Amino acid sequence: MITNIPGYPRIGIQRELKKACENYWTGKLSLERLELTARQLRKQHWDILQQQGIDLIPSNDFSFYDQMLDMSLALGVIPARFRPLQQSFANPASLELYFAMARGYQKNGFDITALEMTKWFDTNYHYLVPEFDHSSGFEILSRKCVHEFKEALQLGITTKPVLIGLVTYILCGKIKSAGLTREQLLQQLLPPYIQLLRELHQAGAGWIQLDEPCLVTDLEPAATALYEQAYHAIRTALPELKILLTTYFGGLEDNISLATSLPADALHIDLVRAPEQLNSVLEILPEHMHLSLGVVDGRNIWKNDFAHSVDMLRQAIAAIGENRIMIGTSCSLLHTPYDLGEETQLDAEIRQWMAFARQKVQEVAALRNILQGDTTLLDENSRVMNSRKSAPGIHIPAVQERMQQISAADTARQQPFSVRQRLQQERLQLPLFPTTTIGSFPQTVEIRQLRSNLKKGHITATEYDNDIRNAIREAIHLQEALGLDVLVHGEFERNDMVEYFGEQLQGFIFTQNGWVQSYGTRCVKPPVIYGDIQRPHPMTVNWSSYAQSLTEKPVKGMLTGPVTILQWSFVRNDQPRMDTAFQLALAIRDEVKDLEDAGIAVIQVDEPALREGLPLRKAQHETYLDQAVKAFRLAVSNVKDTTQIHTHMCYAEFNDIIAHIAAMDADVITIETSRSQMELLEAFASFSYPNEIGPGVYDIHSPRVPGVTEMEKLLDKAATLLPARNIWVNPDCGLKTRKWPETETALRNMVMAAKEARCHR
Ligand code: GLN
Ligand code: ZN
Repeated sequence: MITNIPGYPRIGIQRELKKACENYWTGKLSLERLELTARQLRKQHWDILQQQGIDLIPSNDFSFYDQMLDMSLALGVIPARFRPLQQSFANPASLELYFAMARGYQKNGFDITALEMTKWFDTNYHYLVPEFDHSSGFEILSRKCVHEFKEALQLGITTKPVLIGLVTYILCGKIKSAGLTREQLLQQLLPPYIQLLRELHQAGAGWIQLDEPCLVTDLEPAATALYEQAYHAIRTALPELKILLTTYFGGLEDNISLATSLPADALHIDLVRAPEQLNSVLEILPEHMHLSLGVVDGRNIWKNDFAHSVDMLRQAIAAIGENRIMIGTSCSLLHTPYDLGEETQLDAEIRQWMAFARQKVQEVAALRNILQGDTTLLDENSRVMNSRKSAPGIHIPAVQERMQQISAADTARQQPFSVRQRLQQERLQLPLFPTTTIGSFPQTVEIRQLRSNLKKGHITATEYDNDIRNAIREAIHLQEALGLDVLVHGEFERNDMVEYFGEQLQGFIFTQNGWVQSYGTRCVKPPVIYGDIQRPHPMTVNWSSYAQSLTEKPVKGMLTGPVTILQWSFVRNDQPRMDTAFQLALAIRDEVKDLEDAGIAVIQVDEPALREGLPLRKAQHETYLDQAVKAFRLAVSNVKDTTQIHTHMCYAEFNDIIAHIAAMDADVITIETSRSQMELLEAFASFSYPNEIGPGVYDIHSPRVPGVTEMEKLLDKAATLLPARNIWVNPDCGLKTRKWPETETALRNMVMAAKEARCHR
């Protein structure tokens, strides 16, 4: 039985790679030192895997920025706009070019935008989208995978090189030249790709892992054909190569016969996400193929349930024999934090249920030992699993009871929107084109300092409260002076829109060092939801009431929605994800009620991550969206009709889910649209979106101050698409990343644009 790890995190246990890269970018670290850090990290990771007795130790899973970008460099997929820059360097594959493609390049007379970034399947990891145009050389530019294989070999470790599969690489890219087809791309990319594989083989590689997660998605017939062509071409050129075709993030489903008919020597499947596929794969797997069973979850932080995994492994052994079995994690461990050993402050009971990357490697090794007869490990594990099932705080009867009692009435407002709109207008008396912001104001150094001083105990809670109140007071006065219509308190007390709520809810726990790479050098530290969610006390009412006490204008209460909290946390795996979303919704629902009781007339519940949760397979979209919408409605529906519910969404691309956005039935939605010049609004218009909507009139991602006329034009355009009385005026998103001076000017201009637009009516 072979043990197989598809990939290991690379950012460094203390985020060494992040720090080294960032210092290199600002000129504080030399290229030699950066490369030294990278080599040390690779060695550390190989050593860890080797010490655990892992057979298939990955190489080329390291990356300075992103594995898809690595592949673009490897195959010479350099977009035309980078050519002049490339030619200015002595080395055509220099790290300068690589980082320029990742981050854009604005010096030495160049001004080139970065490659687009997008989410890697349904993870929170973002990759750099390959851009294919006619100018690409399609020749090997970087032999990183070969170098890293040899580097490990010199350390005495024969690794398993990991490459993005060619078809997934092509399907995840964007074609920029008219007339270029994916079939042509495949023909052009195959020769350099095969050459790289040949060099790896010649350097002594045995198993080579080719990652093809697209095999768990809905494939067009043309894509199926690409798979057949690609793998037959590789096989013909390299009959001796040992290909480990690797799939993850879901089940093969209708692609099962495709995947098992490709000329590979082993197939890796994700049995955490799709345990049900084991039977059918075992039935159809050709005799020459090994099967790598991804039984240890590479996407979460929970300890493996050995009894369950052993069952699946034994079933596979019975069907195909132990010589054809590999035991592994479900996917690369890139998506998990490094080492639970670093967590010295976690609650001991909860901690024993958890496993990070390093522990997951141990689990894979342990599973092999169990199968070889060491059942003591099994007993210890089942003791832990049982303690998790019955520990206090996991299943809270009061929460369970409330979940049982959720009725249709709980997820609907009392009157339809048209009636609510009239009632709210009577109460709020807002002008045409009302102005507002999305919630947060600049998080200055002083504000951050305040929070960290409180955490470190350098200031008392009273001092902290006073200082935050001062910031709120200033923000309210400024908004009044600017003439905004619906004000916000500014979210100064929040480090992060999920963490802030998690810290106050029962059922959450926070790690000290549970960092996961999000993109490039950016890491996130998601909270962990371990048990039933309960709200012990109001979370935002004091701040919002204080803000409201300072002004006659309405102040918006500001909350994060259940789906977004779910999406940006590590979620418990002992109940369906959506049950957790409903528990979160109940907690938010109580907060909404308390805000209303405190006299807050406008309450916003942000759901920027609603679309992110879409399953990979289209067939599951409806169910997900229905439940996500239901969770949102559960959170906001127990208010009077005179209370105005807002929601906010960003990260564009809503066209395909507008019906569901409408079903959320928020009185007002604010969305990101300015960069697309209101294009998105056209989709809302053709749907005849019934409720009020605030299309962002300026992009908050840049310090640029928008002019009055340009925003006025956007508003005029919006008013041609939707009834004017339904249109709000606001920025694209929260202003926390901006500075005060530009924020002030931008908002002043925005209010002016709204006033001008009112005059046109
Ligand atoms: N209310 C949040 C803010 O203004 C919304 C952030 C978001 O959409 N990501 O910061
Ligand atoms: Zn936003």
